[in-house]
Amino acid sequence: MNKPEKRAKKLLEDHNIVKPPVPVDQIARRLGVILSFEPFDGEDDISGILYRDGDTKIIGINSAHPDTRQRFSIAHELGHFVLHKKDLFVDKVVRVNFRDETSSQAVDIEEIAANAFAAELLMPREFIRTEMKRLLKKKSVIEKDGLIEPLSRIFKVSPQAMEYRFINLGILISE
Ligand SMILES: [Zn+2]
Repeated sequence: MNKPEKRAKKLLEDHNIVKPPVPVDQIARRLGVILSFEPFDGEDDISGILYRDGDTKIIGINSAHPDTRQRFSIAHELGHFVLHKKDLFVDKVVRVNFRDETSSQAVDIEEIAANAFAAELLMPREFIRTEMKRLLKKKSVIEKDGLIEPLSRIFKVSPQAMEYRFINLGILISE
């Protein structure tokens, strides 16, 4: 595990979170962060903002986006909050998709760290292992897509995010 992932794991342990879905909004609030959900009219491509000024800590989330994306955005901004010192981060929509390799944000080292943190926070590898075992017990034969859909529902993330997570964790399912 890299450093951002370790910080995410520690945060889950500190908050006694042992199973999905991970309550990212509760974690943010317990860290003293104000969550502000707004549609960002005219700035549709903004997914999340982290703003710090002394004791004031605000995460702004685009409420026009799907719930799963909002959860990922909260987790991503929490990553900046925990890992980085800058007072302002403005994040635009980044497709969580391994095929989309030209995103300018994805090459920024802080963005890579915040995404790694968010992935481990929302889809901790230990939780995935546990849930996979549980699902596999239920079905004797399961295809890759048959596992990603139910897991994405259990973890309240998009199927794309779960698929990307599978690839990063090197989880391969033989058919
Ligand atoms: Zn970011």
